[in-house]
Amino acid sequence: MNIGEDVLNLLKEEITESEYSRYIKQLVYDCENSNDHLAIYYAPNALIAKWIKSKYTQKIIHLFEVKTDLKVNLMITLKQNITTESVKKVIQEQKPVGHSLLNPSHTFNNFMVGGSNQFAYAAVKSVSEKAGELYNPLFIYGGVGLGKTHLMQSAGNVFQDQGKNVIYTTSEQFLNDFLRHVRNQTMENFKDKYRKCDVLLIDDIQFIGNKERIQEEFFHTFEALRGVGKQIILTADKHPKKIGGLEARLQSRFEWGLVADIQPPELETKIAIIEKKSEINKVKLSKDIINYIATVIDSNVREIEGILSKLHAYSQLMNVEIDLAFTKNILKEHVQESHANLTMDTITQTVAKELNIKLSEIKSKGRSKNLVYARRISIYICRELTQNTMPQLAQYFGMKDHTAISHTLKKINELIKTDDDFKLKIEEITNKITAIS
Ligand code: ADP
Ligand code: MG
Repeated sequence: MNIGEDVLNLLKEEITESEYSRYIKQLVYDCENSNDHLAIYYAPNALIAKWIKSKYTQKIIHLFEVKTDLKVNLMITLKQNITTESVKKVIQEQKPVGHSLLNPSHTFNNFMVGGSNQFAYAAVKSVSEKAGELYNPLFIYGGVGLGKTHLMQSAGNVFQDQGKNVIYTTSEQFLNDFLRHVRNQTMENFKDKYRKCDVLLIDDIQFIGNKERIQEEFFHTFEALRGVGKQIILTADKHPKKIGGLEARLQSRFEWGLVADIQPPELETKIAIIEKKSEINKVKLSKDIINYIATVIDSNVREIEGILSKLHAYSQLMNVEIDLAFTKNILKEHVQESHANLTMDTITQTVAKELNIKLSEIKSKGRSKNLVYARRISIYICRELTQNTMPQLAQYFGMKDHTAISHTLKKINELIKTDDDFKLKIEEITNKITAIS
């Protein structure tokens, strides 16, 4: 595998399956003409090239830097357009890539606030107004695609505009950077880099769980920065207390400032987000289409962008207006695509494994507390993630009929509202399952 492919594989982790297969997967890296300062990819057609350029340029450049520690210029083009002349021209024309790894469209203005995220929003917003003084560190946690990175980078962009030296990195990139410096015996540079910044943003900090050396290193970075009042913002998919394999001293430090959670968006917030995204991406959608998309998308906001790009690309390719019927068609495919290979067996097996119970027990008529708990979670997730009907669910879980399933689902929905642990467990297992599919 070459570096160009490596980078796309990293990108794959950060976008939806359908965005990947529809666009990114089609890129071909040109090993021959690319070099340390220029990465060239071929796209199958101009539309895709344009789309990828507008949406992923920053991300791809960033991932090159993660991999090679070098800033590249990026060229996404059609194969027939490549000549020595055109390559030269690009190199001459492209400005040196700026230092920022922040996505410029991740701003507070572009962030839609609703009940589900207003606490986190308020926390990040006030930190952005008083770096290092209010909550240090600020720890934001919540499920996938709920806007953690967006919020964190919004603060980053504010700081950067003030001329502060902002480092944004994920904990995995932090780890890779660390390992590279260890290997090259340049640890002094590493320490310099991270301890001399004004603001440190580390995304998805949960990945340092169970990794002792990087925790040790991060601990010292943390102490050095916080000691001199430099702002630290962290995000994770769970509360510091629930991050497995995290040293006690780090866990307690993560809670020193403020811990704020983000919940899945309510319908109105989803609608506002879709409106905003369609405005940003210049995809015109009527009110009924926006409402429809909002009801179909569960909670992961990232999917919204995938859907918009798909709607946009299809309507352009087929030269048709985006109307409701068209949208429904595209979304049908989207829903099926995203969890197409998920079966009730896969789901129930994962639940069984997570809860240390046998699959057959979940499907049995056993009434012990553990079993009922596991069964509820399985039923709920199967309903959420597969196309199975209530009668099919009833049959699979050995229940009398669809009314029995419907009662169970009602009960589960009540529990989700009142029992935070139950809700968290469902989210956690759902995340694991969707990661497999
Ligand atoms: P996370 O880091 O929590 O997984 P991201 O911050 O990457 O999620 O968000 C996923 C996508 O959804 C991004 O494109 C982001 O801009 C968008 N998004 C999430 N929440 C909001 C919101 N409240 N308003 C506008 N866009 C949002
Ligand atoms: Mg994120």
